[in-house]
Amino acid sequence: MHPVQFEVEATDGAARSGTATTANGSYTTPLFMPVGTRGAIKYLSADDYARVGAQIVLGNTYHLMLRPGSELVAKFGGLGKFAGWDGLTLTDSGGFQVFSLEPKVDDAGVTFKSTYDGSTIRFTPEEAVRVQQELGADIQMVLDQCPPLPSPPDVVRTALERTSAWAARAKAAHDRPDQALFGIVQGGISESMRAESAQRTVELGFDGYGIGGLSVGETRAEMLPALAAAIEHLPDDRPRYLMGVGDPASLVEAVGLGVDQFDCVMQTRLGRHGTALTSTGRFQAKAARNAELDEPLDANCPCDVCARHSRGYIRHLLQVGEPTASRLLSIHNVAWTIDLMNRMRSAIEAGRFDELRREVLSVWDT
Ligand SMILES: [Zn+2]
Repeated sequence: MHPVQFEVEATDGAARSGTATTANGSYTTPLFMPVGTRGAIKYLSADDYARVGAQIVLGNTYHLMLRPGSELVAKFGGLGKFAGWDGLTLTDSGGFQVFSLEPKVDDAGVTFKSTYDGSTIRFTPEEAVRVQQELGADIQMVLDQCPPLPSPPDVVRTALERTSAWAARAKAAHDRPDQALFGIVQGGISESMRAESAQRTVELGFDGYGIGGLSVGETRAEMLPALAAAIEHLPDDRPRYLMGVGDPASLVEAVGLGVDQFDCVMQTRLGRHGTALTSTGRFQAKAARNAELDEPLDANCPCDVCARHSRGYIRHLLQVGEPTASRLLSIHNVAWTIDLMNRMRSAIEAGRFDELRREVLSVWDT
């Protein structure tokens, strides 16, 4: 019995909508999951999460195990309770962050220096499972090795082999029945290695499948065939999660290939830097032409910020450096992206997904 049951409810081409049921509640797909790296979505609190339409909020294992430590989070009843969030949570294994620190890697695990105090930390697939069991999210991810792109084929091959061996060890170590464990497919932009990695991960058998190591330097034209090659070998009855990808063009293309869920920090990062995502593209909210505009960021957006605030007001806050500007833009960008996923879900149900895909690409395929 899997701790996540996934039911596909409608399909349109390869795109699909569905409902996944976990031990603590269900979520609908296609789904965008905002990221609360260190226990909070930047500038938001748990009260905001439901208002922007979040169903799952991510936490980052690397950061949370260093500060405040997974033991402490466990004392509060796990990440969701610690953060006061009633919805679902997912923790990534920390692999992406650890590998960005250029750690010493061997077959048994990785050794890296903490960005907080410089201390040396040993991290293994088993330790990633143990820490994530303490963090207690509804879904946890195996520790994988994520090579930067472009990388030579032998580097991608080594990462694939390690990811596969570590996935088997993670599965053996995982013993929390109310928590799902997702495997991760690697393989760079090589279609054959993506297919092989998917097959080997599925042979081990996980509750769902992450596709990692994409959107790390390659073009979208390179990413999509690799993604398609992986999906071809993933089972229909398990959720598929494209990790760290969240630009509107990639979201709509990946859903078109059959991906169910996504996470990305782009929405809040752009918000903090004064950029809004809208149905007519990105724009800089600080631009002088917004100064006298008594219009929302996006007239088609259902979010609270667009219902209440004008471009002129947000532009003013940015001009004078009020932190509220970052908050309003972050809320809008997350809510706007979640609304895009909801529009995809409706389009799949109505059999007009390709129409929406082309509409989104006409604005965002740049
Ligand atoms: Zn909005």
